[in-house]
Amino acid sequence: MDADIEHLLFIYALQNAVKHDSAPKSGTVIGTVLGKHPEFRSRAREIGPLAGKAVAEVAKMSTAERKSRLEELAPELLTELAETHEHVRELPALEDAENGVVMRFAPNPSGPLHLGHARASILNDYYVKRYGGRYVLRVEDTDPKRVDPDAYAMVLEDVEWLGLGITDIVYQSDRLDIYYDLCRKLIELGGAYVCVCDSERFRELKLKGKACPCRELEVEENLELWQQMLNGEFYEGDATVRVKTDLAHPDPAMRDYSAMRIVNAPLHPRVDATVFPLMNFSVAVDDHLLGITHVIRGKDHIANTRRQRYIFDYFGWKPPVYRHYGRMGISGVVLSTSGMREGIKSGLYTGWDDIHLGTMRAIARRGIEPEAVRNAMVDIGIGETDISFSWENLYSRNKELVDPKANRYFFVPDPIEVVVEGAPRHEAHAALHPNDPSRGVRTLVTAGRVLLPRADIEGKSMVRLKDLYNVKIAWDGDTPRVSYAGDSLEEARNEKAPIIQWLPADAKLPCTLLRQDGSLEGFCEPPVVGEADRVVQFERIGFARIDSVEGGRVSAYFAHR
Ligand code: GLU
Repeated sequence: MDADIEHLLFIYALQNAVKHDSAPKSGTVIGTVLGKHPEFRSRAREIGPLAGKAVAEVAKMSTAERKSRLEELAPELLTELAETHEHVRELPALEDAENGVVMRFAPNPSGPLHLGHARASILNDYYVKRYGGRYVLRVEDTDPKRVDPDAYAMVLEDVEWLGLGITDIVYQSDRLDIYYDLCRKLIELGGAYVCVCDSERFRELKLKGKACPCRELEVEENLELWQQMLNGEFYEGDATVRVKTDLAHPDPAMRDYSAMRIVNAPLHPRVDATVFPLMNFSVAVDDHLLGITHVIRGKDHIANTRRQRYIFDYFGWKPPVYRHYGRMGISGVVLSTSGMREGIKSGLYTGWDDIHLGTMRAIARRGIEPEAVRNAMVDIGIGETDISFSWENLYSRNKELVDPKANRYFFVPDPIEVVVEGAPRHEAHAALHPNDPSRGVRTLVTAGRVLLPRADIEGKSMVRLKDLYNVKIAWDGDTPRVSYAGDSLEEARNEKAPIIQWLPADAKLPCTLLRQDGSLEGFCEPPVVGEADRVVQFERIGFARIDSVEGGRVSAYFAHR
């Protein structure tokens, strides 16, 4: 018997280690063994030390050794791993990537990162990890009107939270001289000109496919005007550098777009300048100079890719390989940076981590882990078809991660306090985790005065208080008269009595569970104070992150069921 259990612990420790490519976790190993072999549950106490031994032994082995031992002792457990791994999708291969890639994530520092950024950053990260190479974080801060000084730090924090494998960080505002220099070269090549037309006038001509008078100026005259722009001799809106494209291009937005402009206000938080590149110019220049080999971005950038192509062609540069994924609709949260900012200002949202927002910090606050975001984004992939983001999938990805870790507790929302007539003094032992007895139990003691969730007893004639006993309920109008009805779980089942959570009326902690669609007020078990910043499962309600425990009050954020 002991040999059996030792063997089981050893092979599941091997499987756990191979699965995560790290030392095995004793709690998980015990949970798995008892889950698959319930006959050993009665001996849960002895298993702890034996598991410790197995885990220590496996911890000493190399990755290769663990694999080959598992192969030899329990090949079916290895197969099982391969099958669950398929669960994480393999994305299509990228062309010309076998020798490594250089990719970039290029957010504008206008606010913290949100789900839209998560997709771009995770997909690029996925390929850098797959092929090896460099991953540049390029902070695109050349539009002073859209830079939020606080966003620089927020972007870095969010990048770190997402676990992106960034190797280089570049700020575009540090590179203005590079853009100025290449702008001059582009003018010299005849690929750009300084346009001093009124913007409305230019627009009219452009729509007719006609050149404005500036387009016909000599290179020398353009260089002169460009120098004047740099010298501050023009004011915002009075002069812009345009790339010469094709005035007959069927898409008017492609015709002679702007590459450089003047911004007098607001002042840039990092550099003292008034001439700034527009996105298509700085992106093309940097993709080339930073040696970017592959760009994965949304379909909304397809027109930009075409615009940027003109710059590559003028300079004779080889463009990167582009992939454009479909649009992703995201319901239920606010994503527009300006919408979020206004809402925060007006007090509609509590901050960038308000749970009604689609920011990484809001998602983190709700107890969603970065790995779940990653898996959900890889599930979505780089297909060109437009899709809507599935919160359900994100939640099930998160559940895979938190379910094995989260301790279980009772939370009683909208409580009603009752005295259970005829109840003996009882000590309930409820498992902290149903699959991991080694974590032990919570002990709830009651002589009969308990809190029950109002909505769960309404209209019921019998319920079972989980891990305690059964009660009968007689209704006197709205008032329940509750009496003890024995301990038998079988009887509760036969009577189809719901099994509900409860709390001793004299051992409870006020708790607010904040949800997107309104918060629940109630009480939870006192040991929840030790779970700050961790995800727990409130039994029958769902997973929640304990956000704060202050002045004997718990504030928790609902994650998902
Ligand atoms: N900074 C731009 C954006 O966030 C450019 C991204 C890109 O070129 O992929 O939309």
